[in-house]
Amino acid sequence: MTLHINTPLIESPALSAAAHCTVHLKLDALQPCGSFKLRGVGHACEVHRAKGAQRFVSSSGGNAGLAVAYAGRKLGVPVVVVVPQTTTARAKELLEMDGAQVIVHGGSWQEANELAQTLVGPDDAFIHPFNDPLLWTGHATMIDEVASTGYKPDAVVLSVGGGGLLSGVVEGLQRNGWQDVPVIAVETQGAASFHAAIVAGKPVALEAITSVATSLGAKQVCDQAFAYAQTHPIESLVVSDQQALQACERFLHDQRILVEPACGAALAVAYQGEALSRYKDVLMVVCGGATASHEQIKAWLAQP
Ligand SMILES: *Cc1c(COP(=O)(O)O)cnc(C)c1O
Repeated sequence: MTLHINTPLIESPALSAAAHCTVHLKLDALQPCGSFKLRGVGHACEVHRAKGAQRFVSSSGGNAGLAVAYAGRKLGVPVVVVVPQTTTARAKELLEMDGAQVIVHGGSWQEANELAQTLVGPDDAFIHPFNDPLLWTGHATMIDEVASTGYKPDAVVLSVGGGGLLSGVVEGLQRNGWQDVPVIAVETQGAASFHAAIVAGKPVALEAITSVATSLGAKQVCDQAFAYAQTHPIESLVVSDQQALQACERFLHDQRILVEPACGAALAVAYQGEALSRYKDVLMVVCGGATASHEQIKAWLAQP
């Protein structure tokens, strides 16, 4: 038994029509707690639990924190999440609903994370949101599930924040013998740290995150994501916030599933029409996200 579930893999006529190729959706928006994060975080928490961890510490007010809270509750391990003042009331409510202790500290993630680090005692495990091999191994189960159905895509489309999902998916492709399946790695303008690394030839820090896709808001991608760009076919694409938000709206209409702009970024590539038309059949990672309401998405869309 894992903490994450085996999610549906379905063909989408609506996205296929928009993308001029067959689009299969891996619906990780349907994980308990709403995103793929539970795959890696759940695996990391189980490993730490087996080694005797008495508490899990996180500094994420986003989907990683939600996954730690869920995993801790399921494993019977207390969880403390330190979040910055910018974290929404909704996110705090979701964390507390899963029984996590929430500490609000500092004006940015950096400050919250600094306090979180000081709380990590010898019997505690700190769960990083993206930079940990345990996470990647857990995320890779997504590709194992796809391979076990007998379906092999011509390309995989996914979003990139800190690069944990990308690293896990490439690990999954490689462990299933799919070195030849390219990955299309999508970010929003203002959160494009993977694109910046490709341009600079090494991971570099963005000065600021200016995108509404906060779940993609890592200033620098992990070294592993950049290293995979040297050994695996990976194409980096950047879309606008408006394109990501419009994709959320269209996806809600087409599939009746609400996702964050972080996920809308990847969906936008299918809705753009041309980018995928050179493939016959692509796998779209619907990574999900629980932290944006439909009202919030509509309000962002209304901004000029
Ligand atoms: C965390 C997250 C991402 C980005 O994943 P990384 O591992 O940080 O690259 C994308 N979408 C959603 C909804 C997320 O929660």
